[in-house]
Amino acid sequence: MSKKQAKRSAPFAAVTHVGIVRALNEDSLLALPPLYAVADGLGGHQSGDVASQIAVNTLRDTAPKQLDPVALARAVQAANHAVIAGIKKGAGREGMGTTMTAAMIKDGKAVFAQVGDSRAYLLRNRSLSQVTEDHSVVAAMMRSGHLTAAEARSHPQRSVITRALGSDPNLNVDTYEIPVLRGDRLLICTDGLTSMIEDAQIEEILTGSLDPNRAAEQLIQAALDAGGNDNISVIVVDVTEAQGADAVAAYKQKKKPRSKLWLWAIFWAALVAGAFAGVYFATMHYIENRAYLSIGDSGIVYIHQGMPGTFLDFDLTFQTNPTTVEFDLLSPDAQATLNLEPQFQSKEEALAELQVMVDRSPLYRDNLPVVEALEAGEDDDVDASEADDAEQDTHAQGDNP
Ligand code: MN
Repeated sequence: MSKKQAKRSAPFAAVTHVGIVRALNEDSLLALPPLYAVADGLGGHQSGDVASQIAVNTLRDTAPKQLDPVALARAVQAANHAVIAGIKKGAGREGMGTTMTAAMIKDGKAVFAQVGDSRAYLLRNRSLSQVTEDHSVVAAMMRSGHLTAAEARSHPQRSVITRALGSDPNLNVDTYEIPVLRGDRLLICTDGLTSMIEDAQIEEILTGSLDPNRAAEQLIQAALDAGGNDNISVIVVDVTEAQGADAVAAYKQKKKPRSKLWLWAIFWAALVAGAFAGVYFATMHYIENRAYLSIGDSGIVYIHQGMPGTFLDFDLTFQTNPTTVEFDLLSPDAQATLNLEPQFQSKEEALAELQVMVDRSPLYRDNLPVVEALEAGEDDDVDASEADDAEQDTHAQGDNP
């Protein structure tokens, strides 16, 4: 166990074990938060460990400060060149190489750079999913549907990888980027774990152990119990309260002032609009329900819904109807009242008042009309005003000569 694991606050554990069968551990680990990596050295005979060590050292020196999958992939390519250069300088042996699964985890995000058959997994809500894709013969066969996961585990070519650091200067590095949430747990491991135990067992162990150190130890132990045929390396990283809080805080800092301003703006706009709408509709409702009486053309009394006159060029009269009442047959008192275009709270009130005028008019005594508003009075009203205008024009023309 490293010193870092011993730190109580450390949200990660990095453990490697030589296994039961091998004499040498050729895996190398790197755990310098937010940077984590495993490298599985290939070549045997005391050279795989050289390759994996060169690779993680170069990654440590060239990894970006910020989480950037492309920059992380460049660091893995630098590690690749360093391994190739190491072979040329006589470090290790010809044909040595290494896998590399590198990850950076910070502020609600995880980025990965991947070459070979080491893996990164995400445990979220007690469910394990593989983030990276293996560069191996069996993985390719599985992808094409020629092999099941169980068959791949026991396939004779299970350890043959199709991509590794240390041979091709133009190495292709796969990258992944995923959002991570508080409570998520990431596992980065070599095939010494995944070739020995199934994903279901990994999931069970990662779910069952709250402490990442305990989880890492249990994973190693499970691989050993299953035979320990290979070197086993595991890094368990918990997305902690602090990381999650940072991510949430950063998110809030970006969003909060803006969204609050928007909320206030919307609130006030709604309030003002609501107030205007309220006043408008209340006023319109009030005016619409009012009524007034006037004398139209041909001596008929008219009833209008609304108020006489206009407001800001809006006609405040909503409907005009002739009544059954003739102006000339009303008493002088009633005529005087009607000349003032009396206003009422409602159409019913206006008609009731007009009925009173009729009842009090002696000329109507013989043939008392039932006071009511007739249909389609609006046209008459328009005609009346046009007629008035025409009359005025005629007068003006008549006065001029
Ligand atoms: Mn291995």
